Amino acid sequence: MTMFQVENLTKVYGKVRAVDDVSFSIQKGEFVGIIGPNGAGKTTLFHLISGVQPPTSAKVILNNEEITGKAPHLIVQKGLTRTFQVPRPFQELTVHENVEIVKSSKLSVHEQAKQIDHLLQQVGLGSRQSQLAGSLPQGDLRRLEMARALATNPDLLLLDEPFAGLNTAEIESLSELLLQMHDEGITIIIIEHKLKALMKMVKRVIAINFGQLIADDIPQEV
Ligand code: ATP
Repeated sequence: MTMFQVENLTKVYGKVRAVDDVSFSIQKGEFVGIIGPNGAGKTTLFHLISGVQPPTSAKVILNNEEITGKAPHLIVQKGLTRTFQVPRPFQELTVHENVEIVKSSKLSVHEQAKQIDHLLQQVGLGSRQSQLAGSLPQGDLRRLEMARALATNPDLLLLDEPFAGLNTAEIESLSELLLQMHDEGITIIIIEHKLKALMKMVKRVIAINFGQLIADDIPQEV
């Protein structure tokens, strides 16, 4: 079942065609990688899809509903959440509070605290809940970013270079978490330069260069 579709997505900055007529669709349950050299247009693609920037032209459809150019918070409510290349937690808040402010809920304070606790256990931050986010090492910051993303209950998760700045052990451990999130039913699109780690997870890769989609196939072919 097609859950997400991008048609003729284009973003022009002056003379630069940062994203140039890109079209693809994603089936529910896929785990898709996006690769390409620096400046190819990958992050801009995520900005356009997630409502951070308006496209010059496009049609973006999520779960049969057009979301083109909608505000980021409305797109999150429709089930699409994205992470950023550099994690953006509130440094002065604790790990628990950083998830609490994302997770809006009609539950009682106690019930909500239990849910957040469960989420933080799931991403491996169970013992760090009262620590200030600003004091976390890079690997844990990425885990917090995952917890904040999961707190929005996404159907489709866009990850922008989640392995950036992580060492080999942290990459392996975060890969396991991503595979677990995928197994639990989240469809994932991931931009990543660390190709070895990427290729272990995804079954399909889209390559972008000069804003254009130049390949869309199984990892071995791309
Ligand atoms: P990286 O792998 O380094 O993150 P990328 O593939 O994500 O690169 P983008 O950051 O999307 O590439 O940039 C694509 C192109 O668009 C680049 O030429 C960049 O300079 C240009 N660009 C991006 N944002 C803007 C902007 N706000 N104004 C003008 N040009 C921009």
